Amino acid sequence: MWTGSSDNYAYLVVDDKSKDAVIIDPANPEEVAPVLKEQIKAGKINLTAIVNTHHHWDHAGGNKKLQSFSSEFQDKPIIGGKDCEGVTQTPANGEGFKIGDISVKALYTPCHTQDSICWFMEDSTGKVIFTGDTLFHGGCGRFFEGTPEEMNTALNKTLAAVPDDTVVYDPEIQKATGKSEPVDVMAKLREMKNNFKPGNQNFVMHIDDVRQCLIYDLPNNPAKLIGVEYMITPKLYEGLDAEERKLGMLIMPNPTIPNQVWEIAETEEMKEVVGLYGKTFHFWQVDRGDELPLGMPQLMMSFTADEQVPWDKVKERDEKYGVDTMKKREARKGIEAFKVHEDADGCWKEEISAYPRGTRKWFE
Ligand SMILES: [Zn+2]
Repeated sequence: MWTGSSDNYAYLVVDDKSKDAVIIDPANPEEVAPVLKEQIKAGKINLTAIVNTHHHWDHAGGNKKLQSFSSEFQDKPIIGGKDCEGVTQTPANGEGFKIGDISVKALYTPCHTQDSICWFMEDSTGKVIFTGDTLFHGGCGRFFEGTPEEMNTALNKTLAAVPDDTVVYDPEIQKATGKSEPVDVMAKLREMKNNFKPGNQNFVMHIDDVRQCLIYDLPNNPAKLIGVEYMITPKLYEGLDAEERKLGMLIMPNPTIPNQVWEIAETEEMKEVVGLYGKTFHFWQVDRGDELPLGMPQLMMSFTADEQVPWDKVKERDEKYGVDTMKKREARKGIEAFKVHEDADGCWKEEISAYPRGTRKWFE
């Protein structure tokens, strides 16, 4: 990988043994061509194709120009989505091609553009994926040509199904995090998630031991501000009077909150919040279809035990958001259990004078 003057990354993927190679998204041929030529001349690569993640000019706009730069590039196939400049091959979803010993598979992720393809590659040394503009920092990209449902499928089904040890090459994530090693990227993503801007699903701010979270209904603009959650440490919780403690719940790594954040970052985050106590108020009942924030705020409950969970609703929710509750549960099973204060989860147990039944509701 090299860094040029433009805003995006181009990637050169080389099979060590055969030296077969592809260039991904060479949008800036003036800078890419000399490097490729030098590598070819030195016998380091045997360029077999130009590959694109999607048709936007800053990814696919250099294809023809690159071909025209030199006879060595002229007849190289262009492999990408249907709208990419000069495209000659578009593998079907789940199909692909080889770069020497490297198997390449096309994973269709329509939404940012209808022809967005994430390229999953695997050989005996490891797995990588090139996600183009589909996977943005914090969760998802701009829906230029698609719907939220399509992005949910792209992120939570297609990309979530990629093995955990896959190295992700996403120019947006790398640009946004300034990191390229997967572990660093994940650490940075967590930090960014905790500093979400309004318009993302949660905007979290820490004041010493207190976390304040604004909760939005969608991870993209325009999003509705539907509630506020406060989270505190067990030490602070124990200092509260008993009546106040009933309003709080232990934040469990429960499987029921829709979350479009990348699974791994999410699981890491859950390790941090599992021991915190939270109090959440819901202002805007978007789940009821309210056009405006109406009526009194409601105290939100979170499921803290299996028997509280209406599994039919969870199933509907999973389908709507393209998540897999059981998979999340599996991913989080290594998180250590926490001793819960006896006054916590009062919502589930008893009358609370300030919030009688009917003014409390659970996350859906
Ligand atoms: Zn794009």
